[in-house]
Amino acid sequence: MSRIPTMCVGCQRLSLVQPTQCQTETVCRACGAELRVVPSCSHSETDVALFEEVVSATASLDDPLEAARLLIEVERALASGSSQSFLAALSDRWLGLTPLVTVTGGNRDAQTRILRILKTILIARASTRRSGTMQQVGSTDTATTQAPARRKA
Ligand SMILES: [Zn+2]
Repeated sequence: MSRIPTMCVGCQRLSLVQPTQCQTETVCRACGAELRVVPSCSHSETDVALFEEVVSATASLDDPLEAARLLIEVERALASGSSQSFLAALSDRWLGLTPLVTVTGGNRDAQTRILRILKTILIARASTRRSGTMQQVGSTDTATTQAPARRKA
């Protein structure tokens, strides 16, 4: 059965829910705010555990503009089919991803699975900007092929 990604507009909690659950549960269990469907690719039942892991590993990402920028890089990696070094760079930044990326190694199907989950998370995070217009994330001409910059706080 497929799973639908949802995000709470209040606490920004992300979940992969069953389609039936999506119809009956329209508010967040944690904070009671509205749940929105994240317009992304479909996920399967077997992605749920991995999704939770990637969400918690990337929990520090709270800048919608940065999410939009990373989304472009993820889409590019998905399109190129070669993402091992990109995933390694991401796991440098989010250490929680390291075990997942290590297990994945050179397995392209597994890489794609992580990237598709990241894509959903980034689409959700990129949409959380409260003011101004939504950043155009479909255009790639200003994007770089560099690994994500490591930000010093
Ligand atoms: Zn909530």
